[in-house]
Amino acid sequence: MKIEHVHALKRLLSTPKMAAIIPHKNPDGDAIGSTLALWHYLTLKGHTARIIAPNDFPKFLKWMPGATEILNFERDNGQAKTYLENAEVIFTLDFNHLGRVGQMTPVLEGLSAPFVMIDHHQQPAEYAEVMYSDSTKSSTCEMVYQLLLQMGDGDMINSDIANCLYTGIMTDTGSFKYSATTSQTHRAIADLMDKGAQGTAIHHRIYDTNSPNRLHLLGCALRNMVILNEFNTTYITLSQEELDRYDYQKGDTEGFVNYGLTLEGIRFAVIFIENKEEGILKISFRSVGDFSVNHFARTHFNGGGHDNAAGGRSELSIAETTARFESLLPQYKEQLTS
Ligand code: 5GP
Ligand code: MN
Repeated sequence: MKIEHVHALKRLLSTPKMAAIIPHKNPDGDAIGSTLALWHYLTLKGHTARIIAPNDFPKFLKWMPGATEILNFERDNGQAKTYLENAEVIFTLDFNHLGRVGQMTPVLEGLSAPFVMIDHHQQPAEYAEVMYSDSTKSSTCEMVYQLLLQMGDGDMINSDIANCLYTGIMTDTGSFKYSATTSQTHRAIADLMDKGAQGTAIHHRIYDTNSPNRLHLLGCALRNMVILNEFNTTYITLSQEELDRYDYQKGDTEGFVNYGLTLEGIRFAVIFIENKEEGILKISFRSVGDFSVNHFARTHFNGGGHDNAAGGRSELSIAETTARFESLLPQYKEQLTS
């Protein structure tokens, strides 16, 4: 974080403030971990803080310290709106343009309080007074860790904050294996363990929570996998009917897309998941190597993210979307096979 940002943030927080902390829609481990860590920190510093999530988040994140205090904009709409209107500073974490918060977008756009962005995605929009944006960082949680050190408050990292930050770093790095994992990431993790993060327990709580239905849904997804060897590409589809058959719960499809990349030689893996209620397919893109799924998702599927992990959407049916997807691949053949 640039030193002028640290000073700006110190100035903003020099007197007790009413702060709102916002993760992106369908928040993941990094979004919930980073917002909770910041919430604990601001509260310890004597501010009034509240996390307002655009919608609900998966059960496997609900054990996190402070999680029951999170407002859900869909469920707690009136309370959330009132809080936002009165907030004196708005922190947005783990996203970088206001279109990523679903129904909250127009509300956030209408606020006059200063915004603070903490985020590691590419191509940030310019809406924040304090913009801590660094796409080389493994996770927003690693950035919040660095921020607390730079604020001179490393000694305020208690076991609650440590457990929250560890969780987000772990989930966003695929348990410390993706390429954004640096020696600095491991140093942060070591320090967080010294400060009380329970690595093994966190791993267990996040990853060992399968239901029989989820494993059966995974089986269905893997059977649906299409392998396009010509383009070193695979994709999976899941229809609403299939999700219903296995009593889909939020978070159940987390990680499914990564199975495609475990096939030898595959560089590009995609999953298309139907959401009848929203009338869209939610798409996850993953790659290994130089093929930028951020660019692909931005160009063709109204999305974005990182070079090797991005998301997007389609308003067409599954059959139309996959046909369109397959028709796009020849123009990337060189990149995907060279
Ligand atoms: P996932 O596929 O797990 O939903 O998301 C992968 C990455 O892309 C995450 O960092 C996520 O924040 C980002 N992402 C997911 N969906 C979208 C989207 O619709 N737009 C943008 N800009 N980023 C997305
Ligand atoms: Mn993240």
